[in-house]
Amino acid sequence: MVNLLITGGAGFIGSNLSNYWFKNNPNDNLIILDKLTYAGNLKNLDNIINSSNRVNFIQGDICDKELIDSILRKFSISHVFNLAAESHVDRSIASPEIFIKTNVMGTLRLLESFKEYWEEKSNPSDYRFVHISTDEVYGSLRQNEKPFDEKNPYKPRSPYSASKASSDHLVKAWFDSYKLPCIISNCSNNYGPYHFPEKLIPLTIINILTGKNIPIYGSGMNIRDWLYVEDHCRALELIIKSNKIGESFCIGGSNEISNIELVKLICNHIDKVSSSHPIKPSNKLITFIKDRKGHDFRYSINSSKIRKDLNWKPKITFEKGIKETINWYLKNKDWWEPLLSKNNN
Ligand code: NAD
Repeated sequence: MVNLLITGGAGFIGSNLSNYWFKNNPNDNLIILDKLTYAGNLKNLDNIINSSNRVNFIQGDICDKELIDSILRKFSISHVFNLAAESHVDRSIASPEIFIKTNVMGTLRLLESFKEYWEEKSNPSDYRFVHISTDEVYGSLRQNEKPFDEKNPYKPRSPYSASKASSDHLVKAWFDSYKLPCIISNCSNNYGPYHFPEKLIPLTIINILTGKNIPIYGSGMNIRDWLYVEDHCRALELIIKSNKIGESFCIGGSNEISNIELVKLICNHIDKVSSSHPIKPSNKLITFIKDRKGHDFRYSINSSKIRKDLNWKPKITFEKGIKETINWYLKNKDWWEPLLSKNNN
C-alpha cells in the first residue's frame, strides 16, 4: 500500500492520473493537492473525491512549505508526483513571473520539504519523487532533425519551458547532491478528457461546437507529437514503481502532425458525427492569426528508453484517441461550458 501525493491533481494530466490511479491501484491512498487556479477544476475529480475515504483533496499551494511539511507527515506520504504548474506557453509570454514562482520556487519548496521528511526515514529506498516535465525543455527541432531523447541538451525557448527546465535542473541537483530518490519524465503534448479549453485540441473542438473562429498561429505548419493522456498515466505509473532513481524518461506518442492538419482532421470528424454545430463544413472557421512570439517549430520524441527499460508503449492510436476525445467533449458540454469565461481571464 502506497500513500501517494499528487500535486496539481485537479488539472488536466493530474486529474487523469488521479482517476487512473484510483481505478488501477485499489489499495493506495491518494492525497491530491491543488491551488485551484483557473486551470484546476474539482469537477475533474467528481468520480473519486466523494466516493471513497481513500482520496483526500487539499486546496493549497506548492510554494507553502509549512503546508507541504504537514501533508507529508500527516498522511505518511511515500510517493510524490509533482504536476502542479503553470502550463500555458501564451500565458508565460504575457506574464512570466507566476511561472517562475510556481514552476521553479514551488518545485524547490517541494524538494526541500520532501528531503527533510525523507531524511528522517529508516527505509529511504522505499520513497519516490517523480517530477513531471515536458519535451519543450529541449527547444525546437527543424523538419529533418532527429527526435529528442534523454541525451539532448536543454535549450528552452519560452518562459514556460525555461521555468520547466529550471525545475528539472533542481530535481537533478537534489538527486546528485542528496541522493533524493527523484525521477523526471519529459513528455510530448498530451490530449484527452478534462483538457482546459485554452489548449489547441479542446479549443478547436469547442469553437466548432459553438460556431467561433478557430485561431491558428502563423501558417499552421508547426508540428507536435501527440500522446493520449491515459498512455502518459501508464508511463508515469511504470516510472514511479521502478528503481530508475536519478534518471529521466522521454515519453512520446510518435504521432507527429502539423497544427493545420490536426485542426482539419478534427473539423472533418465533427462534421461526420455531429449534426448540431452551427457552421458546416466547420473548416470555414479556420482563421490564421499572427504567429506566437518565438514559436517552437517542431517537437518530436524518441521513446526508445522507456519502451526498452520499462516495457511501455502507447496503447491508444492517435486515430482512436482523437475520436474518443471529440466524443467526450460532445457529451460533456456541462463540463466545458462554465470554463469558457475563465479562459478569457
Ligand atoms: P494544467 O494547467 O491543466 O494543470 C496544472 C494544475 O496545477 C492546475 O490544477 C492548477 O490549479 C495547479 N496549480 C498551479 N499552480 C499551483 C500551485 N502553486 N500549487 C498547487 N497547484 C497549482 O497542466 P497540465 O497540462 O495538466 O500539466 C501538468 C504538468 O505536466 C505540468 O508540469 C506540465 O508542465 C506537464 N506537462 C504537460 C503536458 C501537456 O501536454 N499538457 C505535456 C508534458 C508535460
